[in-house]
Amino acid sequence: MTTHVEPLVGGPSLPQQRKIVTEVPGPRSREILARKTSAVARGVGISLPVFTDVAGGGVLVDVDGNSFIDLGTGIAVTGVGNAAPRVVEAVQRQVERFTHTCFMITGYDSYVDVAEALNRLTPGDHEKRSALFNTGAEAVENAVKIARSYTGRQAVIAFEHAYHGRTNLTMALTAKAMPYKSGFGPFAPEIYRAPLSYPYRDGLSGPEAAKRAIAMIEKQVGAASTAAILIEPIQGEGGFIVPAPGFLEALVDWARENGVVFIADEVQTGFARTGAMFASEHEGIVPDLVVTAKGIAGGLPLAGVTGRAEMMDAPHVGGLGGTYGGNPLACAAALAAIETYEVDDLAGRARDIEMLMKTRLTALQAGDPRIGDVRGRGAMIAIELVDPATGDPDPALTGRVAAASHAAGVIILTCGTYGNVIRFLPPLSIDDALLHEGLDVVAHALEES
Ligand code: PMP
Repeated sequence: MTTHVEPLVGGPSLPQQRKIVTEVPGPRSREILARKTSAVARGVGISLPVFTDVAGGGVLVDVDGNSFIDLGTGIAVTGVGNAAPRVVEAVQRQVERFTHTCFMITGYDSYVDVAEALNRLTPGDHEKRSALFNTGAEAVENAVKIARSYTGRQAVIAFEHAYHGRTNLTMALTAKAMPYKSGFGPFAPEIYRAPLSYPYRDGLSGPEAAKRAIAMIEKQVGAASTAAILIEPIQGEGGFIVPAPGFLEALVDWARENGVVFIADEVQTGFARTGAMFASEHEGIVPDLVVTAKGIAGGLPLAGVTGRAEMMDAPHVGGLGGTYGGNPLACAAALAAIETYEVDDLAGRARDIEMLMKTRLTALQAGDPRIGDVRGRGAMIAIELVDPATGDPDPALTGRVAAASHAAGVIILTCGTYGNVIRFLPPLSIDDALLHEGLDVVAHALEES
């Protein structure tokens, strides 16, 4: 008698378990990988070469039936969990109504709903406006356009270890050459790089680090030429670097005193990820413009710029936009994701995740001097791996730990200017047991590496 096997479905009904049934990657993934190599440009890399069949919550099942614990969330995107129920339902409803009009041609209210939600949720109770785009990089570019239009100035200050995207302007804003910039110049002009606050490596207080950055800006650029300061409140790709207290506040004060627009790139830190709706809140700062993407729409491509009404309204009518920006499917997904963050108090959950992870990782650090630093906020936590004798970054060890974790069924990502940071970006909906199991696997991988 043959038994009928139901095909797996993603979403909430997917068993939240780790289960490895083949080597990783398995035979089916290897087959697709071979096709990928001959069909897809090699510049589009893949860090864990398994191909997804279904995903749901905090688990991803590949085409060989391996079930992975997802501590990467597609780089901080599926904060509400993969194929989150409200998101799936909202997208299904919308796709049957209409798929596209182009908001610049004929409007729809869900775009306005998302703008209102962003205006309400971002820090500060001043009058705000929002504009929607497709990707983080596109939104960062538009924030720069808005700041230049408002100030009539050109220079933009970005920071060491920054990551803002891969388009021409955002490559210029991004700090790291390999793999993001090498060979892709020339880059956009009028971008200047200031020193960051990196407490583990520079030992400076926030005000000291800010003084150093401001001195550089004043000497090398000049406030009168500066349109904007652009910074991630906690750096993402650069290594989950949390600046020393007071650093961001001093930069905001200086920007205000000098008519410079302060732009917070909250693409990776936004939407409850750090234990607050936006990471700027931890530092008590109110940015002039906030850039959002990733977690905003539970996996659909959407990004936004939100900020002071007088700045956002500076560009002329028709000066901002694009064919797909604020696509109706993405807006429906965003409204459902935002409802989920708020109703399920996922910022509170992110704070619990921080406690759990920091407790475990600092205990691990106590017995392993290769863990130089444990840092981050909420469900955005990292360990920096170093040579204990010298404190030098150890990217080779980092790579081995990531590979061993992948082979054992846990998706983790690495980051950092020196490639020596393991970052954890679990879905905020993950339960403690699955998170503990994921950390057990990483701890074991570290021990064996
Ligand atoms: N800014 C930050 C802080 C990011 O982390 C990223 C993506 N990793 C971007 C901008 C670019 O976003 P996207 O990949 O959607 O263009």
